[in-house]
Amino acid sequence: MAILNIRIIGDPVLRTVADPVTEFGPELARLVADMTETMEDVEGAGLAAPQVGVSLRVFTYRIGGIEGHIINPVLENSDDFQADEVEGCLSIPGLGFPVRRYRATRVTGVDLNGNPVSVDAEGMLARCFQHETDHLDGILFFDRMKSLTSLTYLDEYSRYHAKDEDD
Ligand code: ZN
Repeated sequence: MAILNIRIIGDPVLRTVADPVTEFGPELARLVADMTETMEDVEGAGLAAPQVGVSLRVFTYRIGGIEGHIINPVLENSDDFQADEVEGCLSIPGLGFPVRRYRATRVTGVDLNGNPVSVDAEGMLARCFQHETDHLDGILFFDRMKSLTSLTYLDEYSRYHAKDEDD
């Protein structure tokens, strides 16, 4: 396994719609293992393949002790929203913004062996799934900002509020 280099804004891969995974083999297994190790190394809540320079529809997640990966994810979102929470992004170091996300979501996709997976999520996990799926469509949390007034440096924010995780 290896720690991968995390791409930051300015890298066009972050603005590219990622391709569906069609080949399930050792290369994909290595990508998922390396992404998981990289996410743990930086204590991230999630990591999407474009963030390590791979334009494929894969993300890993790690929220409240629940860790996993989804390939070719599709979200079914609730009609309602959860309370806004400040999100960070490993590709936008230091900055955070309270993002509006659906209250709950069901993600379906496959695992690295091509077996179907379905996870029902609420709260932070649902937020993570929406954030990471956005990455696969070349969307960053900046795009969901309606105004710049709530943009914050996470370190500064945490001086006044509870600690937040990057994802
Ligand atoms: Zn992100």
